[in-house]
Amino acid sequence: MTQKATYIDLPHGITVIDAEYGTSGVAALYLMQSGDQVAIVETGTNHSVPLILEVLVSKGLDFNNVRYVIPTHVHLDHAGGAGELMHQCKNAELVIHPFGAAHMIDPSRLEAGTIAVYGEESFRKLYGSIRPVDADRVIEAPDGYTLEMNDRALEFLDTPGHARHHFCVYDKTSNGFFTGDTFGLSYPQLTSAEGRFSFATTTPVQFDPDALLVSIERLMSYKPDVMYLTHFGDIKPTQNVVRQLTTSIKDIKEIAMSAIDLTENRVGYLQEKLLQYVLDKLAEMKCEQSVELQTSVMANDIELNAQGIDVWLSRLTKAKAL
Ligand SMILES: [Zn+2]
Repeated sequence: MTQKATYIDLPHGITVIDAEYGTSGVAALYLMQSGDQVAIVETGTNHSVPLILEVLVSKGLDFNNVRYVIPTHVHLDHAGGAGELMHQCKNAELVIHPFGAAHMIDPSRLEAGTIAVYGEESFRKLYGSIRPVDADRVIEAPDGYTLEMNDRALEFLDTPGHARHHFCVYDKTSNGFFTGDTFGLSYPQLTSAEGRFSFATTTPVQFDPDALLVSIERLMSYKPDVMYLTHFGDIKPTQNVVRQLTTSIKDIKEIAMSAIDLTENRVGYLQEKLLQYVLDKLAEMKCEQSVELQTSVMANDIELNAQGIDVWLSRLTKAKAL
C-alpha cells in the first residue's frame, strides 16, 4: 500500500507536510503558495516526493506549479529528496546556501559521508540514491538575498551554528521564519501545560554553539510571530521557548566541556548526560508523557547531538594544540 500524506494547512498559504523520514512526526517539509506558484521548503527524502504531489493535487496544483525548492541546508533529512523533486518539477529552481550548492550539484561526497555513518544498507533504505541537480538550475542565496514569488517576498539569512551551509528563510507575509535546525527542535507530543519543549540540535559535523546563539538572536531581531521548524511544525517563539533553547545551548556547552579530556567512549558519556538533561527539563516542565515515551521521542536526536558535540570537542582540542 502506498503511504498517504499527513498534512495540516496553516494560515498564510502555508502547509506543513510530514516527510515520513523513517517514521511519522520526525521531519516536516513546507509548501508555501502564492497564486499559481509554490515554493517547497525542505524536501524530506525521495520517499517524500509522492507525498508532496498528493498535497499539490489536493489543492488543484501539480509539480509544474513548483517555482522554488528550498532546502535550509544540505543535511539529508532536509535535502535528501532535492534531486528527485527537481527532476519532477521542471519549472523549479533550487535555492541553496552558497556552501551547500556544490553538494547538490554533485552529491557523491554527501552520499559517501552519510554511508560512512549509517552503513550502505540503512542508507539505501532511508534515502535510495541521491540525484544530482543541474548546475544551471541552482540559485546560491547568500546572506540578505531576496526572492519574490507572485506577491510573496522571501529573505535569506545566513545562520551558521548548526551547520555552516545553513540559511533561514524569512517570509514577510506570515512574519515567520523557516528555521531548518537553527531554532532547535520541538516535538509537539512533549508539550506540557507549561508549553512546548525546545532543545538545540548539534548534529555533526559543524556545530558551533557561539555562532548558533548569534544566529538565534538575529532571527529574533525580526520579532517574528511564528517559526516553522523542520523537527517539528510551527511554533510561537515566546520568551519561554527562546529561553529554553538558548539555555540548552549554554548547558550543552557545559556538558561538552566536562567531557573534553575523556579519551574513551566520549560519545556514550555525552549521550547519557544529554538524556538526563532532557528528562530533567521535561520533569521540570511537568511533561505528562511517560519517561519511556520521552526517551524514545528524543533518542535519535540525542545520539546525533552527542556525535556532533564529540566532533566539536575534537576540533577545539586540535585548535588548542596548534
Ligand atoms: Zn541539520
